[in-house]
Amino acid sequence: MSLLDLVFPKTCVRCGRIGEYFCPECIGLLPPAAAICPLCQEGSIGGVTHARCQRTFGLDGLVSIYSYNDGIREAVKRLKYRFVRGMAKAFVEAVMERIDPLMVSFFRRKRFVVCPVPLSSSRERWRGFNQAALLGEILAQHMDLPLVRVLKRVKDTGALADLKVRMTAGERQMFVKRYRSTTQQAMAERRFLAEKKVAMRRGQMKGAFEISEKLKVKSAKFLLVDDVWTSGATIAECTKVLKRHGASAVWGFTFARSGRAF
Ligand SMILES: [Zn+2]
Ligand SMILES: [Zn+2]
Repeated sequence: MSLLDLVFPKTCVRCGRIGEYFCPECIGLLPPAAAICPLCQEGSIGGVTHARCQRTFGLDGLVSIYSYNDGIREAVKRLKYRFVRGMAKAFVEAVMERIDPLMVSFFRRKRFVVCPVPLSSSRERWRGFNQAALLGEILAQHMDLPLVRVLKRVKDTGALADLKVRMTAGERQMFVKRYRSTTQQAMAERRFLAEKKVAMRRGQMKGAFEISEKLKVKSAKFLLVDDVWTSGATIAECTKVLKRHGASAVWGFTFARSGRAF
């Protein structure tokens, strides 16, 4: 045990007990994320994009391991603190514990390479530090896949949480006319605003990424790594750039997935 461990002891992300970031009792209780198609967000075996949802420059699948609540929200938060390497390593181990070994052998057999999403947002930046890069690096080691960092961010887009969406007077009028019950109207309005926010986020992400080494992209297969999948707009934009430069397959890989777009 180092002096740092004495001053800042490791505690479990779920129960807070001192000793490990993921204690043996809690690790099996962390909620898994259901496998979904990354395009329509409906259920899909293995996270493969449904045939009907496939797009030329779209994702081919999504692996998200844990649901973004309970201890996992805390784990993601802690990645932004100091001594982050130990936390990131424990998080990767917790992911490897839960991932289907068939998925791992699929990615190896198909010769996928790991590429971290560059600086997810200005909020996630900690003195120039990017947790997706660190997670990607450690994950590549554990999965025995090469790490290929070919994406660079060329535009700062801010955080999803900072996006404010409002209904226009015309839109509100439309909802008032369509629904008799206020509960139904409120639900429809919420769904509408969530979709509007995702669309705005997509627009905001346009042109945010470029390729740093074009030769490494052509015909390559990528696992795009990020900590959390929220609206999916960031990974969708990275996928578009990679595929436009000739990548033959792109899968998203996130440690956690949030059930809501915001
Ligand atoms: Zn625990
Ligand atoms: Zn689908």
